[in-house]
Amino acid sequence: MSVIGRIHSVETLAALDGPGLRYALFLQGCKMRCLYCHNPDSWSTHRGEQKSVDSIIKDVLSYRSFLTNGGLTISGGEPLLQNEFTLALIKEAKKNSIHTALDTAGSVPLELSKEILDEVDMVLLDIKSIEKEQHIKLTCQSNDNTLDTLNYLESIHKRVWIRHVLVPGITQNDALLHRLGKFLSSYSCIETVDLLPFHQLGSYKYKELGIPYALKETKESSMRELHHAQHILEMYKINVTKEERVG
Ligand code: SF4
Repeated sequence: MSVIGRIHSVETLAALDGPGLRYALFLQGCKMRCLYCHNPDSWSTHRGEQKSVDSIIKDVLSYRSFLTNGGLTISGGEPLLQNEFTLALIKEAKKNSIHTALDTAGSVPLELSKEILDEVDMVLLDIKSIEKEQHIKLTCQSNDNTLDTLNYLESIHKRVWIRHVLVPGITQNDALLHRLGKFLSSYSCIETVDLLPFHQLGSYKYKELGIPYALKETKESSMRELHHAQHILEMYKINVTKEERVG
């Protein structure tokens, strides 16, 4: 029987979730509590629509002609929380010759994610902060699992894009960006670092859900700040891309 997962939402022709045009599937459930999360409605593991692997693959295949240079991206929430479903989906997509990408914060222990990391074609790995203490303040969890995930991806030569959100007054910090650049420059699996600006677009969801929003006074990132961060990372010979939205 086809494995069932809980789905937060779908973007059928996504341009910013990996290479090419992609069918982006956002899974329900996340144990992190990033202060800047623009999808707090994805945190609960009980919400979302229940769908089978077969029904999703059928839907993805109906867009196949648009996805020739792209594929399927499984995102969240944290897609590694529904690891059985995510693995089944990747296997089925690959059987149908669909390129697969996993968009994750690597927030679960490696023993729960290894099989998925082995199977998927590439990983978009979100590093919330390179500094453990700041990572805990920012997400309520240490970055140990994320960095273990990166080390494993390096060991299996997996194709990796890093994502990093620049939050003014928090991660938009020269010393931390130098530390991040130096750290990432030693990984040969990393193709690019995608810098994402902090914005306030998700703030209304906190109001709707009655959850306190800690960053309501934080100003949005400016282009000048994005360029500055890019310049620092490029000092470490890192290929940097920039996006117009928060991940
Ligand atoms: S930003 Fe991503 S990892 Fe962070 S709380 Fe939101 S869904 Fe979870």
